Amino acid sequence: MSNPILSVEDLRVSYGRVEAVRRVSFAVDQGSLVTLVGANGAGKSSVINAVSGILRPAGGRITFEGRDVTRTPAHKLVGRGLVQVPEGRQILATLTIEENLRMGAWHTGGTAQRSIDAVYDRFPVLAERRALPAGALSGGEQQMLAIARALVAAPTVMLMDEPSMGLAPKIVDEVFRVIGEIRASGTTVVLVEQNARRALRAADHGYVLQSGEVVHSGPAAGLLADERIVQAYLGVE
Ligand code: ATP
Repeated sequence: MSNPILSVEDLRVSYGRVEAVRRVSFAVDQGSLVTLVGANGAGKSSVINAVSGILRPAGGRITFEGRDVTRTPAHKLVGRGLVQVPEGRQILATLTIEENLRMGAWHTGGTAQRSIDAVYDRFPVLAERRALPAGALSGGEQQMLAIARALVAAPTVMLMDEPSMGLAPKIVDEVFRVIGEIRASGTTVVLVEQNARRALRAADHGYVLQSGEVVHSGPAAGLLADERIVQAYLGVE
């Protein structure tokens, strides 16, 4: 990749003495969908939380749009277009859907009604229920709300941590359809998933993590076609 929009070099993340991520490197081309896959505990969330500025790396370098953002806090990165959809949705159940969406734009200091209206066009179910508490939504709808809230921030790169987690297969289809649409609209997507096959089918490029290291990487179709990788890391379907 010649001029990636996002690149991570030799990233290290530690929790006290636990080294969760050791020298992870990857690059993301503008407009592409890159996935980080691997088993529970492989270090995927730690990587993505370091990239989005939620966690401070113990080492390495993160570059976004040509600038070093290794120590840039999350709230500043959101303003620059690097936006995360967190694991477990993290919506505020007692606030209304509309209030949750407004939180996606808090960094602009405005209400961002135009961006909110745009996401209502994309997610009519949220528009219909805008005045209801977000806690009234189903798990799948809450995931859509978490994605919609990130879209309100007008991301150029969207980082998604396990968006299919805990959802029924039909809803997972829906989530992947929305991810495909987001990517088709020009937003670069970095997707962390335990659902490795599904993520690799949607991705251009994949990185397989194990014990905090990248053990395989390449075009997603190539990873899926490699029997040894499928057997060792992707499990039976
Ligand atoms: P999951 O799918 O469970 O989120 P993951 O691949 O995203 O897994 P991480 O959550 O990044 O992996 O965890 C990587 C390693 O770091 C694991 O060994 C985990 O136990 C450890 N770890 C994660 N968060 C913490 C924490 N706050 N304190 C201590 N250790 C942690």
